Amino acid sequence: MAWNKPLPRPTEISAPYWEGLKAHEVRIQQCDRGHSIFFPRTHCPVCGSRSLKWNKVSGEGKLYSFTIARIPTMPEFTDEMPQALAVVELEEGVRINTTMVGVEPEALKIGMAVRPVFDERPGEATLLRFTPRAGDFPSVIKADADEAPAAAVVQEDAAPKRKISAKDLDAMKSLVSEDYSPWSNEFTVTQDVINDFAKLSGDDYWIHTDPVQAREKSPFGTTIAHGALVQVLSSQLRIPLDYEVVDFNNMVNYGSDRLRFPSPVPSGCKIRARARIKAVEQVKSGVQTTMEINIHVVGQDRPSVINDLVILYM
Ligand SMILES: [Zn+2]
Repeated sequence: MAWNKPLPRPTEISAPYWEGLKAHEVRIQQCDRGHSIFFPRTHCPVCGSRSLKWNKVSGEGKLYSFTIARIPTMPEFTDEMPQALAVVELEEGVRINTTMVGVEPEALKIGMAVRPVFDERPGEATLLRFTPRAGDFPSVIKADADEAPAAAVVQEDAAPKRKISAKDLDAMKSLVSEDYSPWSNEFTVTQDVINDFAKLSGDDYWIHTDPVQAREKSPFGTTIAHGALVQVLSSQLRIPLDYEVVDFNNMVNYGSDRLRFPSPVPSGCKIRARARIKAVEQVKSGVQTTMEINIHVVGQDRPSVINDLVILYM
């Protein structure tokens, strides 16, 4: 099972504590009047002194409190159930939130003597656990070497999408919005792309394919892409929608309610798209959505394509 649990992120103030654990030492702060301090801070919570230094301590102490968690607090911790969540009081008097390891829940007793266990996590951090002082549980444990440090490579685009059931008409209707989605990626409409489409469609009119003649005679001063070409290029543009329609047997592209080409796309321009759901209605065979997809030349307010795409979820 891959390591996918959250890990601590050291701050400037707490870094010496985490560095200590990596070196298999428990380090806590002490002020110039002898007060021991945990968690790491900028000043002493007893006397207010800002003159603090880090000391290595034994890490030995006693079990101050515990509870046995049998239902994971997060799905990632399912493999650790039952989990002995504990508060340990070090000999210096400070208390640390931790987990007890290497001991059966029935054997835990308030006040029992404990010692530290350094739990090395792949590449990232070492965590502080505790075990009964009398037992023979190792003082250093390691996560399996083949466990990837997945927590360190959280992908930005991994944000979970809202799942909307096509069978839930109210939920589907909640998608209708005046606001557009964020922009898609950009795609460059080169003369080569235009030429390929001219060949395929048979529309090789000079305004699309002849840059010399277009420079002289076209009102745009250059060749322009076919409107139909720009429309089909929407397949190259991935619009970031924050939802996903689920729970249907078939999705049918029903065509377009409205297709307009309000402004040209000159050869060599970059295009991008955004969309919004304009309408959702129950029809005989399912739920029909109308998605307005607008394709713009990058930087232009006026769209080059407006397409009201009708999709039927059955
Ligand atoms: Zn103090």
